[in-house]
This record gives sequence, C-alpha cells and structure tokens, in this order.
Amino acid sequence: MKKVMLGNTGIEVSIAGFGVLPMGPSQLALPMEEGAAIIKYAYQKGINFIDTAQYYRAYPYISKALEDGGMDDFVICSKSLSDDYDGMMEAIYEARQELNREVIDIFLMHEVRHGQLEERAGAWEALKDAKAKGLVRAIGLSTHHVDICMAAASMDELDVVFPLINYAGLGIRKGNQFATREEMMESIRACHDAGKGIFSMKAFGGGSLTVSYQEALDYVFSQPEIDSVMIGFGKIAEVDDLLSYLDGSMAKDYNPDVSKKKVHINHEDCEGCGSCKNACPAGAIYWGENGLAEVDHEKCLTCGYCSPVCPVRAVIMY
Ligand code: SF4
Ligand code: SF4
Repeated sequence: MKKVMLGNTGIEVSIAGFGVLPMGPSQLALPMEEGAAIIKYAYQKGINFIDTAQYYRAYPYISKALEDGGMDDFVICSKSLSDDYDGMMEAIYEARQELNREVIDIFLMHEVRHGQLEERAGAWEALKDAKAKGLVRAIGLSTHHVDICMAAASMDELDVVFPLINYAGLGIRKGNQFATREEMMESIRACHDAGKGIFSMKAFGGGSLTVSYQEALDYVFSQPEIDSVMIGFGKIAEVDDLLSYLDGSMAKDYNPDVSKKKVHINHEDCEGCGSCKNACPAGAIYWGENGLAEVDHEKCLTCGYCSPVCPVRAVIMY
C-alpha cells in the first residue's frame, strides 16, 4: 500500500490506517488471538498505521500482534480523554507499558470539543513535556469540531490532527451547532497548509454510511490534504474490502452486506440529550437505568434516522 509522510512529523504511514475500536470490549469484544490476527494480516497487506485510545481498552490486541516481531515500521497512535497534566502523563506511561514500547509514535488529546482547549491546557502541557522527554514522537488532537480543527492550525507545537470528516457531513460540529463537510475541509486545509499531519476518522459516519461504501471512501480518499484515512476493522473481510477498493479491483456496484449489523449507543459518548429518541419512528429508543439512550433491537428497523441527529456520534452500527 502506498505510504506517505504524515505532515512534518517524519513519520511514514500507509494511506489507510487501522482503527482498533470495533474489535475491542465496547463493540465486538473479539478473542485476543482473533483481533491480533486481523492486525497482523492488515500489516502484511501494507497497513502500518493503527489508531487506539486509552478508553478503547484495546492495547492487548496490539501488543499481542507485535509479540512475534517483524513489524518494525508499525506506527501506533493513542489518545486520552484526560484533561489534566497528571492524567495525560499517566495515560502515556500506561500506553508505553501495555504496548511494550519505549516510545509511542503519536499521542493525542482525545475528542476535543468546543471550548475545551483552555479546559484541557494541563493535558496539552503534559503532551509537550512527553515529546520533549522523547516518550512520544508526535502530538496533537482528535476532534469532531470545525472550530477546534481550525485552532489546531495555529498551535505551533502541534504535529498532527485527527478530524471527523465524511461525505454526508455526519457528526461535524461547530460550536454547539452542526457544521458542513465543506467547513471541516476548510479547517483541515488550514492545518495541512500549516504543515500538520492529517488522518481522518468516521468516513462511514459511525457505520450508517457503509451502505454507500465506495461513495464514502471516494470522498475522503480524494481530499489531497488528508494524509491517511483511519478505518475501523473487526473482520479480515473488511480489510480485504478496503484493499480491493484501493487497488481498483472492486466491482463498481459492490457494497458490503450490512444486514446483520445493529444500531448501538456508545455510553462513553452519549449525553442523554434525547435527539435520537425523538427521531426514531419505531419507538425503539428508551432511557436505560443510567439515564442514557438504549436501543430495543426487537423494535429497531435499522433505518438509521437516529444516527445523523446525535451531536456526539454516539449512535454506531456494528
Ligand atoms: S435505526 Fe431507526 S428504528 Fe432503529 S433506533 Fe435508530 S431511528 Fe429507531
Ligand atoms: S442523540 Fe446521541 S447523545 Fe443524544 S441521547 Fe441519543 S445517543 Fe445520546
């Protein structure tokens, strides 16, 4: 697979990356050997870039995949939701220990929302110190927010940005409003022009765009400012689909079978706002004991109406 330099970091990555979230305990909870085998398979096929996070609890899959060696150019990105100095530093030490690596290639502030750059200044200081000490090679942030992505363009010490972008504009935020894909692309362009490395997330909008598989990929892979596109994988067949898309051998009318996928609410992200419940034509969303949304799969029509209205992309399909 084609490799590119990630902005000015000096880190070379494949144009498609491996998002490890789907295989982890919050989604498919794959057995350790099975998850590690998919990572190794993808690496053998040229995908040398993996995205994980402290809260995905997926480090064991990666360390298992790395156990046998031979993956020297494997680039690991992790991130933490911590907002203070100590929490971020602990997250970096935890990643180094659990991934059995002296240096983590990329470490990010995870999902920075509108107004949080100031609130999470302690975490940012920790990232800068960690880079100065050689614990990480590159630092940055992930975000769904246009205004945060735009601000990242003028953060001198920031090396990389991991923004949400997809052809339907699902889940893109600006302040407390929804924003368009064009607005997000404008901020991505500003980051790219400032020399930041860009890898994008949620090309399939959390699963609801997978029915338009090639259209979704055409959009993100045609943006020259995006160095690499992070795709979540939970099966070897999904890696094969991407490979055949990229090498041009995929039939033009092919779309993956998503009939067995179900809609889920990620309680790490859900804010209990009720937008999904209001949008559901089947009365399939109810409040769980923790005050957050739940899906009744007996009633759910998998129509996907709940997904675009969620402000935090907590509605996912897998
Ligand atoms: S997919 Fe449709 S039926 Fe199912 S929970 Fe969402 S809106 Fe309701
Ligand atoms: S729209 Fe999203 S944040 Fe709001 S209740 Fe539904 S899942 Fe939770």
